[in-house]
Amino acid sequence: MLFLILLLLESNVPRDSAIGTKPPANTYSFSESSEQNLANVHPDLVSLARKALELSPINFGVSEGARSFDRQKYLLGQRATQTLDSRHMPADPIGGGNGLAHAIDIFPFVGGEARYDGRLFAEIKEAWDQASVLLKIPFEWGGDWKDFHDAPHFQLPLDEYPPDKALEK
Ligand SMILES: [Zn+2]
Repeated sequence: MLFLILLLLESNVPRDSAIGTKPPANTYSFSESSEQNLANVHPDLVSLARKALELSPINFGVSEGARSFDRQKYLLGQRATQTLDSRHMPADPIGGGNGLAHAIDIFPFVGGEARYDGRLFAEIKEAWDQASVLLKIPFEWGGDWKDFHDAPHFQLPLDEYPPDKALEK
């Protein structure tokens, strides 16, 4: 009996969404607004996002990249963030920073609309993992954070990508 139940449960797992070694090819591309949100974002993070989109079984867009200090303060007031030291904020060149944002927020785009669904984020994150291996660019995912779960958030690690690290020409 138990075996039968397990069998039934197993059969409910959607096979088409399982992460295989060879992801399905897709025709996804970033919209104009997603492209605009990738402006002033570190090119390694942009490359990673593009490769992830290429590999992803789920379409996604970019809702935010570079963010002003004023907007960060606003989001803190809204409790949409826990820090004033976000990787979204471009490091100020006057202070020796590279002027680039090191974080983006994404959203799954399904059926013509943004769908903030944890399972969709998890599938997209798998594509980021694959892209990260292929491009040898590390990243951190806000969905892994225990204290402030932030599934839309992807960023370059601070250790490898300090804000004052100039771009390699
Ligand atoms: Zn974010």
